[in-house]
Amino acid sequence: MNKADSERMAGILEDMGFEWSEDPNDANLILYNTCTIRDNAEQKVYSYLGRQAKRKHEQPDLTIVVAGCVAQQEGESLLRRVPEVDMVMGPQHANRLKDLLQQVFDGNQVVATEPIHIMEDITKPRRDTTVTAWVNVIYGCNERCTYCVVPNVRGVEQSRTPEAIRSEMEELGRQGYKEVTLLGQNIDAYGRDLPGVTPEGRHQHTLTDLLYYVHDVPGIERIRFATSHPRYFTERLIKACAELPKLCEHFHIPFQSGDNEVLKRMSRGYTHEKYRRIIDTIRQYMPDASISADAIVGFPGETEAQFENTLKLVEDIGFDQLNTAAYSPRPGTPAAVWDEQLSEDVKSDRLQRLNHLVAIKAAERSQRYMGRIEEVLVEEQNPKDKTQVMGRTRGNRLTFFTGDIQELKGQLVNVKITEVRAFSLTGVSVTSDQ
Ligand code: SAH
Ligand code: SF4
Repeated sequence: MNKADSERMAGILEDMGFEWSEDPNDANLILYNTCTIRDNAEQKVYSYLGRQAKRKHEQPDLTIVVAGCVAQQEGESLLRRVPEVDMVMGPQHANRLKDLLQQVFDGNQVVATEPIHIMEDITKPRRDTTVTAWVNVIYGCNERCTYCVVPNVRGVEQSRTPEAIRSEMEELGRQGYKEVTLLGQNIDAYGRDLPGVTPEGRHQHTLTDLLYYVHDVPGIERIRFATSHPRYFTERLIKACAELPKLCEHFHIPFQSGDNEVLKRMSRGYTHEKYRRIIDTIRQYMPDASISADAIVGFPGETEAQFENTLKLVEDIGFDQLNTAAYSPRPGTPAAVWDEQLSEDVKSDRLQRLNHLVAIKAAERSQRYMGRIEEVLVEEQNPKDKTQVMGRTRGNRLTFFTGDIQELKGQLVNVKITEVRAFSLTGVSVTSDQ
């Protein structure tokens, strides 16, 4: 989500005539797009900022902007802490960057953190690759998970219209992009805030309807979406993914904890049994589907036995990938002020044990690819071996094979898998034999 915001803001800057500078110390304008999901992300901002604030004393015309979630959370107080900053702007204001910068160039110090209706994107994002692209479908989040700062900083849900989403995808198709990932914090909430109800009484615009509406955009060969919330994940959505050929067989559905008591105290609104049923249903329709998720260890009050329930879930499901994190208390969230905070030692011990199991299970999952022919969308040269290119399978496994990037970039290549590792594969191209 942050990357997508960065690309849009970089697009606006380019449109204003700015050029990208490799070395931040050469830049006349520095924009930090910040993350506050965990404390260590937030601390990084202050260390970068300190260095540039110093430079401003020698170069007074340097413009320093702090955007994103730390900016939203800290607002004015960020200016008091680092007075060299010219502008603090929350994530909802990303599309307004040009107007806001004009105010800075007029001599104002600007704070843009009030909740607003997000304007449709007017500028072309400066995308990092020419093969895959992010497309926002819903901003914000109306959930209230007790550990999470996102609703405080990204505001309430705001869906883009299906027409705006489709037209952005059509433009991407015309530009030669092959893969789109539709984005939302809780993408299953898509459309809840748009007008329209069907004769059967459900919202007219759901994620499933959106997928049917955009799946045939010319040029776009693959569609992914993230992040799914187990509370809202429906069989109708699973059926759509099984039915629509461009929808990739990969699902990112964070479970956070494998223990019902912890899930309740996290306010997640589902049980581990429900989560298991979702995965079972996905595997009924798509036996080979890849499953990834996020999990938190060391939530306040989590006992050893409760943590072991998370291990058990990971053992039973067999994730292809799992993003793990030690719980980090966030300002303005309920769980941050609860008494039963666990020590850093306990948290890091649990994190290590979980990561160990994740790697074992991912390696097991990789075995199924051995000898198989997989469709790989080539994105880049392998930075560690220039004779190889790299891309992803439909199931989202990073895959390397020998080839020339000039010739293969953006191509869908059939690759026979000859080597498997926990999180990546190696193979040989067999496309020419087809
Ligand atoms: N909207 C998504 C993810 C949001 S944040 C969802 O609901 O799943 C991405 C991940 O960061 C979360 O899935 C969670 O695992 C992790 N995370 C969020 N807040 C955290 C915190 N306070 N401490 C540790 N990890 C956290
Ligand atoms: Fe945070 Fe929960 Fe919303 Fe995800 S669903 S962004 S974890 S509050």
